[in-house]
Amino acid sequence: MSARARIGVLALQGAFAAHASALQRLGATTVEVRVAADLEQCDALVLPGGESTTMSQLLETSQLFDPLAERIATGTPVFGTCAGMILLSKGIADGRPDQRSFAVLDIDVQRNGFGRQRDSFETEIDVLGLDRAFHAVFIRAPRISRIGSQIETLATHGGEPVLVRSKTIMAASFHPELADDDRVHQLFLTMVQG
Ligand code: GLN
Repeated sequence: MSARARIGVLALQGAFAAHASALQRLGATTVEVRVAADLEQCDALVLPGGESTTMSQLLETSQLFDPLAERIATGTPVFGTCAGMILLSKGIADGRPDQRSFAVLDIDVQRNGFGRQRDSFETEIDVLGLDRAFHAVFIRAPRISRIGSQIETLATHGGEPVLVRSKTIMAASFHPELADDDRVHQLFLTMVQG
């Protein structure tokens, strides 16, 4: 893989610009992904936060769902945050009936699962491999209700996993792109570049 990884950031909706900025600060080239042809240039992908129901619809209308599913299924590294985590999960509770996911990460999530009174909150979390705490911003975040035995937990909050990883997939319940701290994106780039 080239020294300068090209990371596609799904740019249909949501918090894609801040992800692109973080990745660029780390030396990666970013590509805004809106149509299937954009995928051809990408070594890896980021699915941002936003609204997973809307993203699911837009993925269908832009005819991006199937090509993206194919890229992820064939091992292109992918990092999903918040709504992006929902899009990767096997099971979704409290979703819309017509909401689709790529179902490639062996976890189940509950949308907005941290409860109304704590819809949004910020806290420090310890992340495996990082030497000091990471400031995690949770915004109507998904809660992981089941985690498969092959999935590695990289960080927890209140004893529950909030940053997880499989071989080629990483997913965060929170928004690392809002932290003013690029270390979680760096972890992903390490996965991409080896
Ligand atoms: N609650 C949103 C959803 O279900 C996710 C929120 C976010 O990405 N900040 O898609």
